[in-house]
Amino acid sequence: MFWKAVLLSAVVAAVPSYSADFKTAADLRDHALTDNTAWTTLESLTTEVGGRPIGSPAYDRAKEWALNTLTKLGFTDIKVETFEKDTWQRGAESAEVVAPYPHPLTIIGLGNSQPTPRKGIEADIVVLKSYAELLAAPLGAFKGKIVVVNQPMTRTQDGSGYGAAVPARNGNAEAAKRGAVAYLVRSISTSENRTPHTGATGGPGLHIPTAALGVPDADLLEHMAARGPVCVKLNLASAIKPKSTLWNISGEIKGSEKPDEVLVIGGHLDSWDPGTGAIDDGAGVSITAAAAHLIGQLPKHPKRTIRVVFWGSEENGGSSEAYLAAHKSELDKIVLAGESDLGADNIFKLELPPAASASPDFAGLPTLLAPLKVIVAPTAPTHAGSDVEGLQGAGVPVVAFHNDATRYFDYHHTADDTLAIVDPAQLNQNVAVWASTLYLLADSDIDFRAKPK
Ligand code: ZN
Ligand code: ZN
Repeated sequence: MFWKAVLLSAVVAAVPSYSADFKTAADLRDHALTDNTAWTTLESLTTEVGGRPIGSPAYDRAKEWALNTLTKLGFTDIKVETFEKDTWQRGAESAEVVAPYPHPLTIIGLGNSQPTPRKGIEADIVVLKSYAELLAAPLGAFKGKIVVVNQPMTRTQDGSGYGAAVPARNGNAEAAKRGAVAYLVRSISTSENRTPHTGATGGPGLHIPTAALGVPDADLLEHMAARGPVCVKLNLASAIKPKSTLWNISGEIKGSEKPDEVLVIGGHLDSWDPGTGAIDDGAGVSITAAAAHLIGQLPKHPKRTIRVVFWGSEENGGSSEAYLAAHKSELDKIVLAGESDLGADNIFKLELPPAASASPDFAGLPTLLAPLKVIVAPTAPTHAGSDVEGLQGAGVPVVAFHNDATRYFDYHHTADDTLAIVDPAQLNQNVAVWASTLYLLADSDIDFRAKPK
């Protein structure tokens, strides 16, 4: 047996002896670094299913893939929980500068955008350098114009540049209030390349045709507009498919002593359509499934049950609420929740619920994770993934694994979100962090809801 064969005397000797089983956690950590489950899972998903937006034929294939994968990896109590939602379906899209200097533009329609009329929209543009400029403009200021917001995104390790930039993607209602006939936003991107980034849009209220521009195309429009009036033509075809059946799919590694106490973890299986949804979020699905699978291979499962959920509608919202609604009756049995949804680059920081951070049971965790270059932060998690927001809001404690997101937003929601940008070694580092930490959390007796004294 592998577990007996691996001898990590140096590492194990460095780990203090607390009640939790750090020897098993260290074995899991080291085994995960050479195990290829996450990679083969992600390769299978991106090859056999590909991009899988809600309401698409690929989304239906993803369901079958999920059931096969969970079965193959040894999960039990596999469940499909369905819910309904109208889904936005992309159609043909194009944009060009008509005058004064005709240029093709690279764009991608944003999810939930209104279509243009069949013949398109042709209008002069107004270029604003920030979203704040749009908000500061009086109502009616851009009557009949196409509003372009060219606000760059800041590259950060923790991905916080995204939160700062993304309100601009939702600016179509604000542009409409100011009289705009269409809205073009610089891609929410840290890349300089021309590939546009999609994403959901749609502020409350009025709603107009909306697309993201490739970063250099947004700059081009700004340069042109500095010379005088610029006329752009935009064509966006899309349709709403009513009442698509969506799902959250889960499987379990049953706890050995307290099987009714459940840790809910996972990633989201829906994705945008231009790429194959490798980093967003095939990676999260594969990392968490591989981590739980490795724990499931142990001779003795941890005390509590680990439930891996493949959430089915993160990009356009819905899975978090649906999951909460379906599990209202067992909320007090869900002891902890977490999600992997920031790609497959190394985890650099971990945040535990305060009850775990304060417990001597977890005092050895920084030493356990040090070889993986992970900091165990003293802070409590504030956000642990959008699919667990519902649970978190209902009082379920969360654990947050922070990926290095330095390059994530170069590719996020683009045609380049493919297996080619996933580094197998970093993918396995994720599995090692998840598997070893998750094992300790699942084998713990701590009430994570408790307030530390
Ligand atoms: Zn995601
Ligand atoms: Zn996404």
